[in-house]
Amino acid sequence: MYFIDTHAHIDMLKGLTPREAVVKSENEGVKYIINVGSSLDSSKKSIEFARKFSNVFASVGVHPHYVRNFGKKEIKILQSLIQGYPDTANENVSERYKKVVAVGETGFDFYRNLSPRLDMERAFMSHIELALEYDIPVIIHDREAHKQTLEVVKKYIDQKNFRAVVHCFSGDVNFAMQCLDLGLYISFTGVITFPNAGDVLKAVGKVPVERLFIETDTPFLTPQAKRGKENYPGYVRYVAEKIAEIKNLSVEEVADITSKNAERFFSIN
Ligand SMILES: [Zn+2]
Repeated sequence: MYFIDTHAHIDMLKGLTPREAVVKSENEGVKYIINVGSSLDSSKKSIEFARKFSNVFASVGVHPHYVRNFGKKEIKILQSLIQGYPDTANENVSERYKKVVAVGETGFDFYRNLSPRLDMERAFMSHIELALEYDIPVIIHDREAHKQTLEVVKKYIDQKNFRAVVHCFSGDVNFAMQCLDLGLYISFTGVITFPNAGDVLKAVGKVPVERLFIETDTPFLTPQAKRGKENYPGYVRYVAEKIAEIKNLSVEEVADITSKNAERFFSIN
């Protein structure tokens, strides 16, 4: 049995170095970690980790918080990151390329509204187009913007190679069903272990386990059992345990199925 943490930011950890986080997580049964970029800088770090640690994969993108004036220049940089660092001429290019497994996180954040909404939308579409160009999936961030997220997604669902996951799912059953109808995957964090999880828990109950992933969103959203501590990928098992409890499955079954889902979706292995 092993877990895959499909969404972490180990570059943001304060208590652990990236190496410590990776080693500790491995000891907790986490086989792979996808480190997700939220800025150009953290996207570069994600790729550095992917090169340094065999079990870490990278996603590159700029979080909706930081997309004010996102444009051609940023897209070019993301393209060059996906294609591989120019300073690694000695390494095998195709190997590096395969470790960038997604574009994101991208989408809308109407909770904090740190960027103009129009910029968020434009950047979201650019990220999706980048993912289509390189035939990799998109990691979507949606905070209080379900309607707008679906509107953008609908523009691309006819594209054969469009694949996307709604990370840190925060909607209700109705929104989950709409996402599933559009072919999206859904990813749950430690939020589902919180006492006030409410509607999100009902969504866990309804989403088939074949369509979901587990994630920590490290260093944020520490599961209830470890509240007060900094989150890290090793705690992804608490998300799996909660899903197992709700769906009447064993933790092993949840680990196996969600790991297979993630390996297929992100073309890991
Ligand atoms: Zn994140």
